[in-house]
Amino acid sequence: MGRKQENFSEWYNELVEKADLIDKRYPIKGMDVWRPYGLSIMRAIDRYTHEEMARTRHQEVQFPLFIPQTEFNKEAEQIKGFGGEVYWVTKGGNNDLDVPLVVRPTSETAMYPMFSLWVRSHKDLPLKVYQIVSVFRYETKQTRSFIRVREIHFFEAHTAHDTYEDAERQIHEDVQIWARLAERLCLPYVLSKRPDWDKFPGAHYSVAADAMLPELKTLQVATFHHYKDNFAKAYDIKYESQDSTHVFAHQTTYGMSERLLGAIISVHGDDKGLMLPPAVAPHQAVIVPILFKGKEAGVMDAARHLANLLLAAGFRVHVDDREETAGFKFNDWEMRGVPVRIELGPKDVEKAQCVMVRRDNGQKSFVAQADAAKGLAETLASYADGLVSRAWKTMTENVRDVKTAEEAKTVSGIARAGWCGSDECGQKIQAVTEKTVLGVPLDVAFPSFKEEAHGKLVLPGKGFSGHCAACGKATTTPVHIAKTY
Ligand code: ZN
Repeated sequence: MGRKQENFSEWYNELVEKADLIDKRYPIKGMDVWRPYGLSIMRAIDRYTHEEMARTRHQEVQFPLFIPQTEFNKEAEQIKGFGGEVYWVTKGGNNDLDVPLVVRPTSETAMYPMFSLWVRSHKDLPLKVYQIVSVFRYETKQTRSFIRVREIHFFEAHTAHDTYEDAERQIHEDVQIWARLAERLCLPYVLSKRPDWDKFPGAHYSVAADAMLPELKTLQVATFHHYKDNFAKAYDIKYESQDSTHVFAHQTTYGMSERLLGAIISVHGDDKGLMLPPAVAPHQAVIVPILFKGKEAGVMDAARHLANLLLAAGFRVHVDDREETAGFKFNDWEMRGVPVRIELGPKDVEKAQCVMVRRDNGQKSFVAQADAAKGLAETLASYADGLVSRAWKTMTENVRDVKTAEEAKTVSGIARAGWCGSDECGQKIQAVTEKTVLGVPLDVAFPSFKEEAHGKLVLPGKGFSGHCAACGKATTTPVHIAKTY
């Protein structure tokens, strides 16, 4: 067993700094400094998010960081849900503010007073906007970089629709967007409709994607909420329908955060360090020139030539020309999770070839320099397949069907058990197992959602038949139960 398996927390906490993702020495707990390498990965994730938003006709907005207490207090569930973990601004200079300001923990209460001004007629709907900003939560539990922090790099999409059904179609679209993103990040997941007691404050229902981390606990990495007209009523978001009546809008949100980076590090990394998905790796390949006395110039020229060729083909490639040994460079780039190392020595220059080495399994292939772009594309694809199949195997090997809550307690990973659907039984399952009911798998909760919407990497739940793990009643509805972060 390696260090990652023995002591995941220690492995994780050391690696995020060693790989120069962040600097934890900033003097506020839970607020880390993003370093260039870490930020570059996060920006790549954001880039895909922007692309998906454009594809699905969401428009980017940017709302102020502060929310007046008077607006924040309009939706009772939000206050209950976030009241204890918001930062307050109570002074401007030396003056006490008349109305204290909340530093946004999420932006419903900032956006919806404006939605009420923007939405007038059914022609203004659907309204689909999003922003990628920092949100702040006064986290009192133990913090962990990217996973539990006080300043969160956050994506939030907010929509308003004319009907309940149109808002539900939006949830469907969100799930498809998520499936495409998860595929790029090589991240398997479970999609669940959260039980009522665990839905987002103010939501009608919540759907969430959970990834499985090495301690076999799950991490919530994306959420989709149907608000019905709950917020519209609190913020007076009404439109004039075709028959001239004024109707409250139905709303949804979709949220993700830097936890995605936390999941990538945790799921794919090994004892040597990170393993980054090619889609978000700052360098998809690093060329390491193998230098021998007297032949340096020829090799360096060939390395630069090869890099230009690959850059022109659209790859992110870096030439490591540091004055270090080749062995040092190999280890260093392995630790930083670069998908492919390209070795180039004097013999390779003579033969007009290079050596491509996969980060995950060390597999080497000799590729003619003229075919380098094709060779790199193939190597990156097989490397990404390797990440996916290992992560998928870990997830599916750690799901167990159980009959009772007592049995679910003994399962490490995800236990799948029957649930009659009553809150009482669900709470009992949580109490007995000392774990969390993630919810009903999405394909069971929403059989009307098309199957392809769920993506290739989702753990499905359909076809279940059994008995409620608490009361023993026959049911075809399973729930996933796991320890969570
Ligand atoms: Zn029951």
